[in-house]
Amino acid sequence: KPTVAFDNVVFGYEQDRTILHGLSFEVPAGSHVAIVGPSGAGKSTIGRLLFRFYDPQEGRILIDGQDIAKVTQHSLREQIGIVPQDSVLFNDTIGYNIAYGRGGAGREQVIAAAQSAAIMPLIERLPEGLDTEVGERGLKLSGGEKQRVAIARTLVKDPPILLLDEATSALDSRTEQEILATLRRVSEHRTTLAIAHRLSTIADADKILVLEHGRLVESGHHTDLLRRK
Ligand code: ADP
Ligand code: ADP
Repeated sequence: KPTVAFDNVVFGYEQDRTILHGLSFEVPAGSHVAIVGPSGAGKSTIGRLLFRFYDPQEGRILIDGQDIAKVTQHSLREQIGIVPQDSVLFNDTIGYNIAYGRGGAGREQVIAAAQSAAIMPLIERLPEGLDTEVGERGLKLSGGEKQRVAIARTLVKDPPILLLDEATSALDSRTEQEILATLRRVSEHRTTLAIAHRLSTIADADKILVLEHGRLVESGHHTDLLRRK
């Protein structure tokens, strides 16, 4: 399991507007760190930098001490699995959508992966399993089912690092609890960075960082932060 670290990261999308002001934090190997903060604080930007959709203007992002700017895009994406708020599914079967997470692996590989302990519970309650058609953008599935397919798609490549980007924000509260339980299970042996705007969805993080205007203003456990409110 790798350690993820941001080391004095300065970043802005536009030249004269800095979004992250020298951000430093560490997600120790196998631990679960959550970042919370108001809308616009820069939370999603952190995820985009980790996945190298953008590069910082200053500072470094390290995986096990290695600057991610120096590893190939391919190896970076093999290591990091993203679960976004609203996953785009292809108008095809669940099997196809999960296979896509493995770069379009063959059907047999998908079936093998789908029977793995990690993935099975995600799809077993769907009516026709892997052959279920998801419809346009997953329209035929409920929000929770859609998110389970998205999580399975992310897990087929067995990434040691998970980036949860508002992964349950679009769900009603009951479904949210169910998906949170699923995420807790699948993130157990992975280095996990969760981005959220509600404290309630990250109660089980080992550490919570509070981001405001691109700066860390507080950190602690869930109970510490609630006490200070
Ligand atoms: P959060 O996830 O905490 O809501 P974001 O990281 O999405 O915050 O955004 C932080 C700031 O960066 C916001 O002021 C937002 O308007 C700005 N921003 C986000 N994406 C872009 C972009 N592609 N181009 C320019 N500014 C952006
Ligand atoms: P590849 O080229 O290896 O298929 P992609 O860049 O298309 O990789 O995406 C890798 C994973 O990241 C996919 O599971 C995809 O759903 C997810 N992903 C891609 N872009 C975004 C994004 N902007 N926000 C969240 N997740 C994304």
